[in-house]
Amino acid sequence: AAKEWGKDTYRFYESQMNEATSRKMELEQSLRKALEHNEFVLYYQPKYNLLTGKAFGVEALVRWRHPKLGIVPPSEFIPLAEETGLIVPLGDWILRTACMQNQKWINEGLPAMRMAVNLSMLQISQDNLVEWVQNALDYSGMDPDYLELEITESIAILNEYGIERKLHALRAMGIRISVDDFGTGYSSLSRLNQLPIDTLKIDRSFIRDIASSEESSVILKAIIYMARSLNLTVLAEGVETEEQLRFLQKHLCMEGQGYYFNKPLSVEDMERQLMIWGPA
Ligand code: C2E
Ligand code: MG
Ligand code: MG
Ligand code: MG
Repeated sequence: AAKEWGKDTYRFYESQMNEATSRKMELEQSLRKALEHNEFVLYYQPKYNLLTGKAFGVEALVRWRHPKLGIVPPSEFIPLAEETGLIVPLGDWILRTACMQNQKWINEGLPAMRMAVNLSMLQISQDNLVEWVQNALDYSGMDPDYLELEITESIAILNEYGIERKLHALRAMGIRISVDDFGTGYSSLSRLNQLPIDTLKIDRSFIRDIASSEESSVILKAIIYMARSLNLTVLAEGVETEEQLRFLQKHLCMEGQGYYFNKPLSVEDMERQLMIWGPA
């Protein structure tokens, strides 16, 4: 009987594996056409100053409206887009769309927001990264002051692809740089301090565990404190509750983002929000 059970369990895992593999293959095959077919859309999630309560920026987050599978989250297709190289043309579409959208809102007299765009490894490693960003700015007419680029901690600390030089060039243009998912990698603050970074975005796992884990709250307080002494702004990701907000305010974390304020919003919902905030 034990043998039979083992067999079934094996079959069960095998069929689950096949399902996952065939979904991956299906996504991979449709990914290339998705860009031509206009299946990607951007959502926008506001970022707030926690002391004034005012929003100062938004982060563009990409979604894939798959004709058969419905909404596919970026955690599923960004890695595929990286593997296949599609992240380069997709990333180009994302940056241009985000900048044009933001410039359109500014032209309409809505409160001016800083637009943050996520960049992945393959994008950062491109030789023409700096020229490419400049082109997107020229194309949209958006002032570089209104652009922020988010790169993950693991990418920021790489000593490759001339990352340091590229970040300095982008900063010299007036663009802000933030380090995403901070605290999950193994970087030292002294290494990060050599890079032209404006903001550390503390990974939401630390914020999630504020109440339940003494360790998380101690680390969080230490990050806020060290970042302040290095003149870096700290933004808390994934703020979901009033309790978390209070904790962050108490420990002088200046910025936050999360479901407590807004989920990522469609263009229409973001526009409505901007109108509620009133003219610039
Ligand atoms: P990220 O840049 O760290 O983005 C934050 C993620 O946390 C987003 O997930 C956002 O929807 C989610 N989030 C925000 N507030 C909360 C909250 O209060 N609670 C919880 N549970 N989640 C919250 P999303 O949109 O699924 O994106 C996941 C990741 O995919 C992003 O992490 C980023 O690494 C990547 N990504 C998204 N859009 C792009 C893009 O345009 N380009 C690139 N290269 N990567 C992207
Ligand atoms: Mg991000
Ligand atoms: Mg993040
Ligand atoms: Mg994150």
